[in-house]
Amino acid sequence: MARIFSGIQPSGELHIGNYLGAVKNWVALQREAESLFCIVDYHAITIPFEPAQLRARRREMAVGLLAAGIDPARASLFVQSDVPEHTELAWIFNTITPLGELERQVQFKEKSQRQESVNAGILNYPVLQAADILLYRADTVPVGEDQVQHLELSRVIARRWNNQFSPDADFFPEPRALLTPTRRIMGLDGQAKMSKSLGNTIALLEPRDSIWAKLRPAVTDPKRIKRTDPGTPEVCNIYHLHKAFSPPATVEHVAVQCSTAGWGCIDCKKVLAESIETELVPIRSRAERLAAEPGLVEDALATGAARAKVLAAETIHGVRERMGFA
Ligand code: SF4
Repeated sequence: MARIFSGIQPSGELHIGNYLGAVKNWVALQREAESLFCIVDYHAITIPFEPAQLRARRREMAVGLLAAGIDPARASLFVQSDVPEHTELAWIFNTITPLGELERQVQFKEKSQRQESVNAGILNYPVLQAADILLYRADTVPVGEDQVQHLELSRVIARRWNNQFSPDADFFPEPRALLTPTRRIMGLDGQAKMSKSLGNTIALLEPRDSIWAKLRPAVTDPKRIKRTDPGTPEVCNIYHLHKAFSPPATVEHVAVQCSTAGWGCIDCKKVLAESIETELVPIRSRAERLAAEPGLVEDALATGAARAKVLAAETIHGVRERMGFA
């Protein structure tokens, strides 16, 4: 059975972009593979943060993931800082990673250009990611396209460490990327990737009325100005959301109605709102149960951390032995 690891930052409430781009895939994978899903709070502190907010967001993320369908009986859901071996292994990997390799990472270049002061955590972020994955000797990592370069670095680090400290038998597997089937989800502005900071999202636990209030004015095919203008579904973000939420027959119907001006964009959005509602109803009801019994969240995280700690301890023991610390 494959062992998969994937992490998500405690950004607070999940939105449908996170759900379609990662979490829905995790829910499916937990049935097929030994799964470790980690709320990566050490990664979240490379930018300024408030401790109370970090605590609240971590919990909110756990509620969102459990409501979305992560099942603690199948998968280990845990918080990164509950397993301190992540940072121990990251330090070790830092010592075998050339500075130039980190400076060449596209995400480092982008993030450092956006900030006046760049801390070393931003540079070393992919090393901690490598430690997150390799600590569990995961062989498969579900990722979006934007994370492929970081995963490649994890593979390089695994290879380099193996060559140096475990030349006879590879201690760390070289993890392979499993690209998430749903690619980039655009925001309701149709301009940029769905992102909480851009305010172009629909939250996973958002009520029906509020979703409709956002969907109604959402950007569509910019060339479809009048109701009688035929549209081009492929250039419309609403059509792509239909592909993510609506059954195939509905998606086909949308394409025909749009390209023949058979219906207007509001008709199209009403159908989408129903499809989203169908998907979100069970998620909301699980969230209500978690709100009624808050101990379920703590129990799930504690069980997940206990499982993760066993695997982490085994790896660190092997690393220490091979490096002369034990
Ligand atoms: Fe987009 Fe639907 Fe309007 Fe076509 S009919 S432009 S797919 S919202």
